[in-house]
Amino acid sequence: MRRPGRPSTSPPRPRGAEPEQLGFEGMPERLFVCTPSKLGAYVDCPRRYRYSYVDRPAPPKGPPWAHNSLGASVHTALKNWYALPVERRRPEVLATLLKGTWVRDGYRDDEQERAAYRRALGWLEAYVATLDPDTDPIGVERVVAVKTGVLAFNGRADRIDSRPGPAGPELVIVDYKTGRAGLDADDARGSQALALYAYAAERTFRRPCHRVELHHLPTGTVAAHEHTTESLARQLGRAEETARDIMAAERAVADGGDPDQAFPATPGPRCGWCDYRRTCPAGAEIPGKDPWAAVEGRT
Ligand code: SF4
Repeated sequence: MRRPGRPSTSPPRPRGAEPEQLGFEGMPERLFVCTPSKLGAYVDCPRRYRYSYVDRPAPPKGPPWAHNSLGASVHTALKNWYALPVERRRPEVLATLLKGTWVRDGYRDDEQERAAYRRALGWLEAYVATLDPDTDPIGVERVVAVKTGVLAFNGRADRIDSRPGPAGPELVIVDYKTGRAGLDADDARGSQALALYAYAAERTFRRPCHRVELHHLPTGTVAAHEHTTESLARQLGRAEETARDIMAAERAVADGGDPDQAFPATPGPRCGWCDYRRTCPAGAEIPGKDPWAAVEGRT
């Protein structure tokens, strides 16, 4: 907050830009407050990041996606499963849980939506059969946070398990996946989000956390990776590099630079799935996907 009696000499900032701190020697730099999806948006396409986090008012998004509705419904049903007392965690409750959390947006019609519901219920039934109903995770949709010299990171992990390790209990980051494609160990190893969750969980709970797992519900497979302290540090370093790039781009815009140059568009196949395709001149040339395209024809 500016103190009274000190007129501002800075040029007006664009609405929505993060407030810049006045810099002087010895003053710590502003931390970049971020989530995995904020970092991921910039890595995927700096222009998409700008539409989501810089431009205000934000440009209108396209219609909701059925696959997001499906994913959200399944995630919330699993969260509510763990909220039940142990004795009520029975497969029979899953239909009620899923109905209670079902998100209807994005489907082509009722028939497609009903088929997706039946499919999701089947995934959940098969998945909970693999869980020990008497074991509670240490966190479900749990926010973990950590600060470094560059980042103030926070994120919501789907699940954090505590499992026995050679030197005592260790934490495991579990991320549920409901997409069409199967996943392998390379996906778990390469996921910056999972690595950052592990790094933050270790510091939040003060217990070792090196293992990350992707649980793909449609196939019932688990893709896992054991991080080392060094591999977690590498992922953190990459996240900090991204954060520095974003802060430099935001500073350039705040100083009157061209936002299109500071946040370049990187068009590609993903534009068909981008919420801002109608706003983005580069993306408008690429045919858009139907909101239900990712759930169509799945058995
Ligand atoms: S449409 Fe493509 S180029 Fe444009 S913001 Fe979205 S992902 Fe980036």
